[in-house]
Amino acid sequence: MRITIIGGGPAGLYFALLMKQQDAAHAVTVIERDGPDDTFGWGIVFSDQTFDYLRDSDAPSFERITAACEKWENVDIVHRGERVTVRGNRFSGIARITFLRVLQDRCRELGVDLRFHHPVASLDELPPHDLLVGADGANSLVRRTHEALFQPTLGQGRNKYIWMGTPRLFHGLTLTFVQHQTGLFTAHSYKFDRQTSTFIVECSEESWRAAALEAKSEPETCRFLEAVFADHLHGEPLLAKNFLRWLNFPLVQNARWHGERIVLLGDALHTAHFSIGSGTKLALEDAIMLERAFAEEPGPDRALPLFEATRRPRVEQYQRAALDSLHWFEDVGDHMHLEPLPFAVEAMTRSRRVDFEKLRQRDPAFVDAYEQWSRSHG
Ligand SMILES: Cc1cc2nc3c(=O)[nH]c(=O)nc-3n(C[C@H](O)[C@H](O)[C@H](O)COP(=O)(O)OP(=O)(O)OC[C@H]3O[C@@H](n4cnc5c(N)ncnc54)[C@H](O)[C@@H]3O)c2cc1C
Repeated sequence: MRITIIGGGPAGLYFALLMKQQDAAHAVTVIERDGPDDTFGWGIVFSDQTFDYLRDSDAPSFERITAACEKWENVDIVHRGERVTVRGNRFSGIARITFLRVLQDRCRELGVDLRFHHPVASLDELPPHDLLVGADGANSLVRRTHEALFQPTLGQGRNKYIWMGTPRLFHGLTLTFVQHQTGLFTAHSYKFDRQTSTFIVECSEESWRAAALEAKSEPETCRFLEAVFADHLHGEPLLAKNFLRWLNFPLVQNARWHGERIVLLGDALHTAHFSIGSGTKLALEDAIMLERAFAEEPGPDRALPLFEATRRPRVEQYQRAALDSLHWFEDVGDHMHLEPLPFAVEAMTRSRRVDFEKLRQRDPAFVDAYEQWSRSHG
């Protein structure tokens, strides 16, 4: 089969290597607009469950990825300057560029044709193929070109966010809430290698305007946010990469996932807010499930419906959780009156994927402390 994949992100690269591994006779081409070393963003997190899938699907990339990961099991919630730690949440962090390089190397080893610096302007310019995969991200050209087929529902989150890095090492996934004179700012941070942490800041549009952030240059933005989070950065700077921009999180769903010889994968198909750290995980699982569908049904006419039927329920479940989490962060001002312990319980259960009993299994000491607090506060 001749497979053309637009987009050399996690979804496109992983699907490419899996298909080549399934059958070396497949001619698999990945067309990517950027260079192999260009990437947006800093580090990404994965839960342990994602790693099980990666190990079962491609052991060599799994080993290289896990060797490059920083691991932790605590989520820290910092509210009113007080840190509440919740244990039993096993995560790994890795630099996004390291992760993509592992997948690129694996693609090359298996004989995937990787074409970098090739921005696709029109689908008419593609080489002949039996299957076209749109793994070209949230603003997918493939989806836009075939809008009538996929029938997407598009939207965006209300909050503004910006993705930065810092040499300050946050051990564990740390959520820091700061009430600044211009408004409420939230940071999502975690270390992803020995020198660097991801530091994503989000705030409401009102806070963003009150702080005149739209008019600030990149260095001014960093200096402003360093001042907002001064008590938490321990004197370390915030770092910008490529072009530092404030964005609204894109919300993507599609009524249909495929045509006869065309399918979407990853963010082109569905997004999930970064606060549940699952976008890359979903992209990789899509690739795994699509490859499995081709293992069962070699032709696209049967494999693509099988992929959608098996994958859609799980994706929709994650998207619901991600939306609950996104709304919680948008409305977090409503919870700021809570004391640190009940605030931490609200934060931990925001996506409804973790309930109180799950929290108890993960960290009985934390739940005991909360129950004691509840009793003493009537
Ligand atoms: C702030 C933030 C933090 C995040 N943190 C996490 C996290 O911790 N954990 C996690 O699992 N996920 C996280 N995510 C989500 C994750 O980044 C995405 O879900 C993931 O990258 C999706 O992979 P993808 O391959 O579908 O798309 P992308 O990674 O967007 O890749 C698409 C590729 O297609 C290329 N492309 C686009 N158009 C064209 C074209 N016309 N021609 C050629 N190439 C093209 C792009 O250059 C890009 O390389 C985060 C996202 C954000 C915004």
